[in-house]
Amino acid sequence: VNRSENMRAIRSKDMLPELAVRSLAHKLGYRYRLHRKDLRVIFVHGCFWHSHDCRFAHTPKSNLGYWMPKLARNQARDEKSIEALTAAGWKALVIWECETKDEASLNKRLKTFLDGAIR
Ligand SMILES: [Zn+2]
Repeated sequence: VNRSENMRAIRSKDMLPELAVRSLAHKLGYRYRLHRKDLRVIFVHGCFWHSHDCRFAHTPKSNLGYWMPKLARNQARDEKSIEALTAAGWKALVIWECETKDEASLNKRLKTFLDGAIR
């Protein structure tokens, strides 16, 4: 398997947690609150791609010269985006891929984050 096929496989797996969070937020009815003035954004970070400190974020065993700078750039980009959003008045929540596996606790976190904006 060459590198680009590999990356495609990883990327498509990476889409699943994002969909899980979106459909859960949708189920909770948050789709209808998009007109609110306060701005909230939820990031769903794949543990590997965003270098989470957890067991799902396995460090690559080969091609380190390729992966390490790439993952470091991702991390730097994440920090910058969140800083920029915060500076512009947004509130950002980061949900890690590994945290999407527990639906009850994910549900609670989404509610807390999104409801905080209303009251
Ligand atoms: Zn993780």
